Amino acid sequence: MLIDSHCHLDRLKAAPDLASLQTIMDNAKAQGVDYLLCVNVRQQGFEAMRDKVASFENVFLSSGVHPLDVQEGLNIDDIKRFASDPRVVAIGETGLDYFYSNDTKALQQSCFEQQIALAVDVNKPLIVHTRDAREDTINMLKSGHADKVGGVLHCFTENWEMAKAAIDLGFYISVSGIVTFKNAGELRSVIRKVPKDRLLVETDSPYLAPVPHRGQENQPAYVRDVAQFVAELRGETFDDLAQYTTDNFFNLFKDAAKLIAR
Ligand SMILES: [Zn+2]
Ligand SMILES: [Zn+2]
Repeated sequence: MLIDSHCHLDRLKAAPDLASLQTIMDNAKAQGVDYLLCVNVRQQGFEAMRDKVASFENVFLSSGVHPLDVQEGLNIDDIKRFASDPRVVAIGETGLDYFYSNDTKALQQSCFEQQIALAVDVNKPLIVHTRDAREDTINMLKSGHADKVGGVLHCFTENWEMAKAAIDLGFYISVSGIVTFKNAGELRSVIRKVPKDRLLVETDSPYLAPVPHRGQENQPAYVRDVAQFVAELRGETFDDLAQYTTDNFFNLFKDAAKLIAR
């Protein structure tokens, strides 16, 4: 079994309606992807996202505002209300992205701070997007006591120092198709070092299709390509990696484990 720990099913061009989304889900199932976490990026989009995936029982949700969507506004009470949906297992994605947007730094920080506090309040882990904001991300997680709930640095592209700091805070590192890209040598050396009990795999679809699907729209089925690549990179078997990343997912997202135990 594999889990796509981070995807945006509501943003797939290939799935404008339920029938096409069913095909995407069937493709994933055929590759052994049994569960998916569909991640919210705009609070204005939460309800449409939730409704779109409502008929798929193997899809978990998150509630939050992405650092590159903060200008559309954050109402933390809405995020909290959405998070009370039983299928919402995490807060995010939130975080800091100074690479694509340096001019919204202060707003990103205030939105991140509020979402960290909410995660602690509702006792759900954080899905963190971080790019070119290493120190601020780690410092804000620390000062917000994010270690109480943990979380994941998703689509990880930073250095080992940052991975280690996050791991020390009880966080997980999630690897996307970027690890398969030709120029990702440094990232590969980081991913080799992440302890088994802290690694997750994701597609971040519809973005960042892994080799050999470059140029196509990314979809959850391709998490298998990521997993195969990472297993080989780390000198592990595919089955071992599939098993421990699945275990890690349910250890981190405890509400997801409770949902499937029913
Ligand atoms: Zn992201
Ligand atoms: Zn994302």
